[in-house]
Amino acid sequence: MSRGGRDDSSTLPPGDAFAVLGNETRFEIVRTLWELYEPEDPANVVKFADLYDGDTAVSFSELYEAVGYGDSGNFNYHLEQLTDHFVRRTDAGYELTEAGFEIARSVVAGTVGEKLRLDSVEVDEPCPRCGAPVVIDYDNHHLAASCSQCPGIWQDATGDDGVLFTFAVPPSGLTDRTPEEVFHATLRYNLNRIRSFIDGVCPDCSSAVEQSLDVCDDHEPREGGGCPHCHRQHAIEVAERCHQCKSVARGPLTIAILAHPSVTAFYHDRGIVHDFTAWETFRRAQTLETELLETDPYRIRVTIPCDGDRLRLTLDETLAVVDVVQELSSATSTD
Ligand SMILES: [Zn+2]
Ligand SMILES: [Zn+2]
Ligand SMILES: [Zn+2]
Repeated sequence: MSRGGRDDSSTLPPGDAFAVLGNETRFEIVRTLWELYEPEDPANVVKFADLYDGDTAVSFSELYEAVGYGDSGNFNYHLEQLTDHFVRRTDAGYELTEAGFEIARSVVAGTVGEKLRLDSVEVDEPCPRCGAPVVIDYDNHHLAASCSQCPGIWQDATGDDGVLFTFAVPPSGLTDRTPEEVFHATLRYNLNRIRSFIDGVCPDCSSAVEQSLDVCDDHEPREGGGCPHCHRQHAIEVAERCHQCKSVARGPLTIAILAHPSVTAFYHDRGIVHDFTAWETFRRAQTLETELLETDPYRIRVTIPCDGDRLRLTLDETLAVVDVVQELSSATSTD
């Protein structure tokens, strides 16, 4: 799909982009254009499709007045520095490009709300390993969920302390939510992102994603968890990496495979709505078994049990499912 050359925002090397934005007036221009933007206007929603008339850009004088400082010559200079990458000039005035919106959104998501910490709050959800209540902490834009009793899924070197997950979530995710709601919203936000990674599309910049397996060759989980070699419960992890924007994700294969459509269908046939972005995914992942069939290249079998039946998936080194077998406990039954 082409935009017919109407979006004249150019690509800018990251170093230049940081330089362009490293100025208070320019930052204020981006912020002001975002403040004046009306998301409900259909012309703003269906852009570049020639369906709606109307130029919703902000005139130079309105923008200059709204930003509120600098002489007009100096202001114009800074505005020119932002055009064409972060700001686009139209017949009516100025508006943000998608790159400009991304800057504004990340600032808004990162600064909304004063509640930047959440200290050790118990949520009404059981640990997928032992059933004890889960405790959440929020700091440095990360939500960490741990178990009040056991060392969880990732452990420290001693195996005594660990977490169930740590996920990045901007402070805006905490606004107007109870701790339980923050917990579930963080899971939805991040498991949707992980599904995008698994589908090969970076959730941050849409670039191609490199996916690789990380197998602990000498996996020796101690009682209660904590392998001294890899410090995690599961021997096989999936690592996702975007070379374009350096966004990364990582997690047990037993969680990643639960995003596969054959798994959803297997559960559905047994009357279970399997919702990958729900906390239940972490509990279900504990019931899976993995088996390393071959190492060069990797070939892995994952077994998913449900109601006495088993779904067996064989994965190749790219994590593509190359074989699907259902073992039904009632296969020989005539009832
Ligand atoms: Zn536990
Ligand atoms: Zn990316
Ligand atoms: Zn290990």
